[in-house]
Amino acid sequence: MIPNFSATSYDFTEYIPATNFIGGEWCEASGTESLPVINPRWGKPMSSVRFSTAADVDTAVKAAQAAFQDWKQWPIRERAHVAYKAREIMHRDFEELSWLLSHENGKVIAQARAEVAKGIECLENGCSLANMAAGGKLEVSRGVDCEVRYEPLGVVAGVTPFNFPFMVPLWMLPQALVGGNAFILKPSEQVPLSALKIADIFQEAGLPDGILNLVQGGREVVEAMCDHPDIKAQGFVGSTTVAKLVYGRSCNTGKRALCLGGAKNYLLVVPDADLEVTASNVAASFTGCSGQRCMAAAVMVGIGDVDHIIDEVARRTAALKTGTDLGPIISEAAVERITGIIDQAEEMGATILVDGRKVRPSEEGFWLGPTVIDHATTEMRAATEEIFGPVLTILRVDTLEEAIALENAIPYGNASSIYTTSGGIARRVMGEVDAGMCGVNIGVPVPREPFGFGGWNDSKFGHGDITGWDGFRFWTRPRKITTKWALQRDETWMG
Ligand code: NAD
Repeated sequence: MIPNFSATSYDFTEYIPATNFIGGEWCEASGTESLPVINPRWGKPMSSVRFSTAADVDTAVKAAQAAFQDWKQWPIRERAHVAYKAREIMHRDFEELSWLLSHENGKVIAQARAEVAKGIECLENGCSLANMAAGGKLEVSRGVDCEVRYEPLGVVAGVTPFNFPFMVPLWMLPQALVGGNAFILKPSEQVPLSALKIADIFQEAGLPDGILNLVQGGREVVEAMCDHPDIKAQGFVGSTTVAKLVYGRSCNTGKRALCLGGAKNYLLVVPDADLEVTASNVAASFTGCSGQRCMAAAVMVGIGDVDHIIDEVARRTAALKTGTDLGPIISEAAVERITGIIDQAEEMGATILVDGRKVRPSEEGFWLGPTVIDHATTEMRAATEEIFGPVLTILRVDTLEEAIALENAIPYGNASSIYTTSGGIARRVMGEVDAGMCGVNIGVPVPREPFGFGGWNDSKFGHGDITGWDGFRFWTRPRKITTKWALQRDETWMG
């Protein structure tokens, strides 16, 4: 067992170094490079992480392969019982998990608690698999039955980003583990600590040693995973550039890959939209988790006269308290990058309705207050680039056609929402926008389980979605068994 994380407030608190966890043992990475794990609220190291090498990946694969031989024989209900037990422990440790996450990532405690709750919900999908994962059987010809069973792939791997250190690993683990695989997880080197707790919890829940392994590090580990011939599937969540690289490299070695990338989500708002619902949703969507989420509203397209809604979005945004309602940004470099995007929009003629550039609740840490950019144009980086900060860019157009065309011109396709009280408008937009996760009067249209999470276009490389039933299909392979017991003599092509 690893020690408890003792914080119950934002007070600066150190934690143990992030090590590897292989074959049920905590062990040092073999690389020489290590990085501090910086608490973004304080801007100083709370822990450290040593980088692993390709040799560590290979050690983890061997441990996982050995453990898989027994685990794959467990009935799915018994594997799901481990997930049930892990869920109980997560509830028991809910506050500790939330504070650890808040400290390593920076998100405020209410949003950290929401992430832990959502992670547990993802785990519940794994618990349900014992009831959902029945294959099918059909008499396909006289006296001939065909049956399908979902079987594990073997050793599989996942790579996760900095913005949801607890939840995103739990997008993959429930389906992969209950599906009978052995897993190697590489968390983001910026936030490697929640994953320590996840591994510890699964061990306490009775997961056999070697079935969940952690290999800490960065690019070298990911490339070694992509290249390793005995890793059969690669999951990835992160930026589009890296998602594309990981997808290509994994497919080159013949493994299946599902790689979720970045986003630039457009919300379309028409004048008949409900003022309160729209303004509160838009403000919450782009400021939640300080805008560091792939489902954040990034661009609001105002269609016609929506000044009253924009005024209300700005009023609500200006009332938010940085430090209390929203946390810091992950790094100083990210603050500088985002500030540069706002500066450019202003220089090119946009109006900064709410300006977060000088907002700092304290001297320490990496801060940027919520910002609303109005009258932006598509020549500005703010309208097309993923910002990943608490910034809303407003584009104004006259018609729904123009709004849909703007939305569909961007290469991403993660999420898209329409705010309207007209069924006809909603129906049209839901049929025409080029995005995988769409919403009507919803600011963060995350499909909850059993539906699957995943975008389109440059927001996802690979087939299917990462959570829900699709996730289970990704981490398993169907075996088809055709049986003929009644040995009738008639000749058919199935002879
Ligand atoms: P990132 O791409 O920088 O890092 C993600 C992971 O890839 C990390 O574990 C990192 O160590 C590894 N990595 C980084 N560079 C690499 C390289 N050159 N080769 C191999 N591996 C590499 O992403 P991030 O900054 O941690 O996270 C933010 C991004 O993740 C945003 O673009 C966001 O939209 C995206 N994201 C997408 C989803 C989704 O569901 N589509 C969900 C969460 C986050």
